[in-house]
Amino acid sequence: MRYASFSLASDPRPRPGIIDNHRVIQLEGASLLEVIGTGERPSQGTPSYPLAEIRWHAPIPRPAKNIFCVGRNYAAHVKEGAAAYNREAKLPEVPVFFTKAPTTVRGPFDDLPRHDGVTEQLDWEVELAVIIGRTGRNISHADALSHVFGYTVLNDITARDLQQRHTQWFKGKSLDGSCPMGPVVVTADEFGDPQAKRVSLRVNGVTKQDATTADMIFPVATLIEWLSKGLTLEPGDIIATGTPEGVGMGRTPQEWLHAGDILETEVEGIGVMRNRIADL
Ligand code: MG
Repeated sequence: MRYASFSLASDPRPRPGIIDNHRVIQLEGASLLEVIGTGERPSQGTPSYPLAEIRWHAPIPRPAKNIFCVGRNYAAHVKEGAAAYNREAKLPEVPVFFTKAPTTVRGPFDDLPRHDGVTEQLDWEVELAVIIGRTGRNISHADALSHVFGYTVLNDITARDLQQRHTQWFKGKSLDGSCPMGPVVVTADEFGDPQAKRVSLRVNGVTKQDATTADMIFPVATLIEWLSKGLTLEPGDIIATGTPEGVGMGRTPQEWLHAGDILETEVEGIGVMRNRIADL
């Protein structure tokens, strides 16, 4: 099943729905977060709308907590990052976790702020994101994927200069609008093996990232196992699983996003987001 959050011109409040054959069937819960928690299905007589008439929101427009993120989870990305900052390209022995503030989240087709005057090095990162469906702590590797509700596409947009200047990554990762998500959440049963998906990103139609989740250093099940050690994961929690090579900081010369640039962020089996960088 493919879940989304949407609104109508007549009522801008986001509501949850299921995508079915070019229409969205509205769900009764107040939000997708609530639907994930209760496993709600559409009841008889719920309205449906043509996709052409809706505005798409992030599946979870306002997460209940920060978005969990993983850094340095693809070897080729570790190498390009080390080369960019003259560091040793050492692969992590355990997952590198950080978070993004809930206020970073935007819809899959929203304009995103350039933040002129705040950062001069706005960069892109296509990622497969996991949506947790079942509460758990100290989750075993064998049980990990049974805690997943579904998967979505996420762009972990990063202000590289702030990421470096503040040492801790949080500030450079948490500018408003730096986390477009969507367009849908594909349930785990429909999505299949999370380690066999193509992830790709284009800027103004030019491919910058094109890799496979098979190359993750720590696969999704391992990430859940590590993250849940002594830390309760709850329905609606989001885990961004890291980006592959091809980000702007790793290119020669380095490339940064400018107002007017169009970002297309794609994960096989889920869909494509299309966001414009704008002076907002
Ligand atoms: Mg990232």
